[in-house]
Order: sequence, then structure tokens, then C-alpha cells
Amino acid sequence: MIAFLNGQYLAKDRVCISPDDRGFLFADGLYEVVRFYHNRPFRLREHRQRLENGARELRFNRCEFPEFDEVLMNLIEKNRLEKVESAIVYFQVTRGAAPRSHRFPPPETPLTVYAFAREFFSAVEEQENGAGAILVEDDRWGHCDLKTIALLPNTLAHQKARDAGAVEALFVREGLIQEGTHSNVAVVKGGIFYTPPLTRHVLPGITRQAVIELCREADIEVKEAAISKNFLLEADEVMIIGTTVEITPIVRIDGKLIGSGRPGPLTQQLQTALFRLTHNM
Ligand code: PLP
Repeated sequence: MIAFLNGQYLAKDRVCISPDDRGFLFADGLYEVVRFYHNRPFRLREHRQRLENGARELRFNRCEFPEFDEVLMNLIEKNRLEKVESAIVYFQVTRGAAPRSHRFPPPETPLTVYAFAREFFSAVEEQENGAGAILVEDDRWGHCDLKTIALLPNTLAHQKARDAGAVEALFVREGLIQEGTHSNVAVVKGGIFYTPPLTRHVLPGITRQAVIELCREADIEVKEAAISKNFLLEADEVMIIGTTVEITPIVRIDGKLIGSGRPGPLTQQLQTALFRLTHNM
């Protein structure tokens, strides 16, 4: 597998990153995961902009990544992924390597830029039949709107879900549903599509935005509104939304069936619409 590190393409197993890297020591970094469908990136510009916004918020010494698009395209090509149905590219930027200190490194310290690509398969069975989720208290920090690599609470919550036979954990803060560990969440009730508003506790998902647009095109009313635990559990349909999960119906939460316990019609309609959009049909 060919990866990218600081301007160079090399075999992934030859990538060498300093133990002083701030990503390693402080999780001081940002990342993006971009999905390719038949060699075409989905919403590339939006991913780059989110990364650049994050770099500004974290006060990185470089907040523009003009190389982003080209690196992604090159990794797809160098790994011969042009012909596969779907692939992902992971792109990470950290504040660079410097002797360990809570202070920022000297301003000339180059950021560490690392990326790799691989084929990616959708979880077809889960997308067709739906899957379970669990609710967990949101113990993450106060800037979940930034896509930082500091994902320990997310991995712990996700593993808890897997241990319970579920596919996602949904974070609950003061009784309100925020998002999943690697997905946004939406609920259908009375034909209306509800999703939590973008606050500091929710990542502005690229797929979330695409699905909102698909709703509007299909004349489905969208409400970006707070979702309580009760509202979620009494919903007609629940879905998680994201680059890797696409739209996955959630038919069970903490063991309780949602609606009929089967993927609902609006979820299925949006799945079809998203497939057509991602596959340029
Ligand atoms: N929320 C969190 C915490 C995520 O990690 C992700 C994606 O990884 C999402 C939401 C969905 O965002 P996107 O659609 O941009 O992949």
C-alpha cells in the first residue's frame, strides 16, 4: 500500500513518524475521511474546507491545504483503486514534531501530513435490515464540531456498542441526543426529518448536509431541532448518517424496537437518493 507523508509517496510500512509528533503525544491533530465512488470523490471541497476551518480553530501555523485534492487523487491512482466501486482516503494533519511541551512548537515547525487510501465496503446487511444502537452519556470535550484525532471517548463508546451487539453508540448530553461515535443521527416522526442542530457537540457532517439537501429536493420537511431521549425512542424511524455508514437504519436502541423494528420508508427513500447522488446516477 502506498501512503503519503510530508510531500512524499512511499510504502505504508516505511512511513516513519517522530515520537515527538504532537499527534502521538497530545492527539494534537485533525483528520478527514473522504469516500470515493467509482474513482470520484464525494464532496471533496467540503472535506477540505472542514479541515481548513479546523486548522484555523486549532491555530495551526498553516490553515490551507491546497495539496489535499491532488494527494487524494494520487493515492487512489497509486493504489490502483480507480476501478473499485468504493474506496476511502484518510488524511491527517498534526501540529508537527517538537520536544514535548504544552506550549505550541516554534512557528516554523512544519505540520505532519499523512494520508493513505484503501478499498472500502459498505455494511450492506446492516443498511438493508437495520442495526442496533446504544445510548451513552456524552463525556467528550467541548469542541466536537472539530474533527480532531482525539477520539478516545468515541472508541470506548463504540466498543461498548459492539460488545452489546450494536453498531453505534449515540451520545446523550443533558438528555439530548447529539450524534454517534462516527456518524450523525436523524429521526423521522410524522413524516418530518429531525436532526440535532450544529452546536459545539456535533460534527458538521458532510453526509448529514447532503442528506438534508436530498430531503429538501424530495419535499421532506427538515427540522434541525433538539432531540430528547424520549423523542428518539418514540420515533417512527431512526438512522445514522456518515461517510462510512452512509445511511444505516437504526431499528433497536438499548434493546427497544424503533417503530416496526424494520427500516422505515423514509429512511429507504433517502438511502436510494443518497446512492444515486454518490454514484452520479
Ligand atoms: N460525527 C462524528 C463524530 C464523526 O466522526 C463522523 C464521521 O466520521 C460524522 C459525524 C459524520 O461525518 P461525515 O458525514 O462528514 O463523515
